[in-house]
Amino acid sequence: MSAQNSKAKQLIILSGKGGTGKTSISAAFAHLSAAHANSHPMVFVDADVDAANLSLVLEPESLEPKEFWGGSLAEIDPEKCINCGACSPVCRYDAIFPDPKNDQVQWIDPIACDGCAACVYACPEGAISMVRQHEGNWFQSNTSFGMLFHAELFPGRENSGKLVTLIKQQARLYAEDIQSQCVVIDGPPGIGCPVISACAGTDLGLIVTEPSLMGLHDLKRVLGTLRHFHVPAVVCVNKADIYPEGTRAIREFAAAEGIALIGEIPYDEKIPRAMIEGKPVTVLFPDSSAAKAIQEVWHRTFALLHLQED
Ligand code: SF4
Ligand code: SF4
Repeated sequence: MSAQNSKAKQLIILSGKGGTGKTSISAAFAHLSAAHANSHPMVFVDADVDAANLSLVLEPESLEPKEFWGGSLAEIDPEKCINCGACSPVCRYDAIFPDPKNDQVQWIDPIACDGCAACVYACPEGAISMVRQHEGNWFQSNTSFGMLFHAELFPGRENSGKLVTLIKQQARLYAEDIQSQCVVIDGPPGIGCPVISACAGTDLGLIVTEPSLMGLHDLKRVLGTLRHFHVPAVVCVNKADIYPEGTRAIREFAAAEGIALIGEIPYDEKIPRAMIEGKPVTVLFPDSSAAKAIQEVWHRTFALLHLQED
């Protein structure tokens, strides 16, 4: 495959919940990618816009924020409101109350408002308007391993899926500009709206799971999401040796589902130590058992995506 003439592949790394070691593996992938594919640098996305943490490990150089404007919410102009009460009954989200600062006018709770605009049409005074919301910021940051796209959604905001889509688009455009081979996406935990946005259009999903009943359950849920988008999936088990029965159950499940188990990473206290130090484990402890196992997973993933090493 020539990286010069083809679109960058998209790899998404997922887990059903937080704390499985997904970000540790993503950070190590960033380091290994930089070490092995220097002439085709990879591009990274932290798609966990509610609690981004890949940026903590990759030490971004520039954090100049760009504003993310999401949907619109209703706001009442207290100068125009005559407190007629026509708006409150039409709101199916119980978002309209007497203003706590002035009970002579109505007020809209921005957390409860869904932005349906029904109240705008109900108001005889034209006192209600829809106002676009600054819901978060996104960043394009240089790291020693490549460009990282990440974001923060403000608390209480709900457009995490849109924000994930935005930073993925920006990352893909940048990847095209620099003729990168691959965009590596550290996916959000769970299977909600941001995960769906993060999965769409990707070429391969690497599911990181743990050897437990909950790990198997989460694996099934994430696999279902990837299959919905026709994204091929592979799995790796983190802390595989702490509960061999659990790892065996995951092996059997993967075989029955026809998905490759491409790595079993042993429990290694070097992983949390590296996270505390804010570095990929492959940088700080390259000879540790976890770093070596992650390296194998990375090589297999690299091969599955048909990427070129320098
Ligand atoms: S926009 Fe819809 S949800 Fe928001 S206050 Fe008006 S009626 Fe309620
Ligand atoms: S309908 Fe308009 S004027 Fe009447 S209470 Fe609501 S905001 Fe005020």
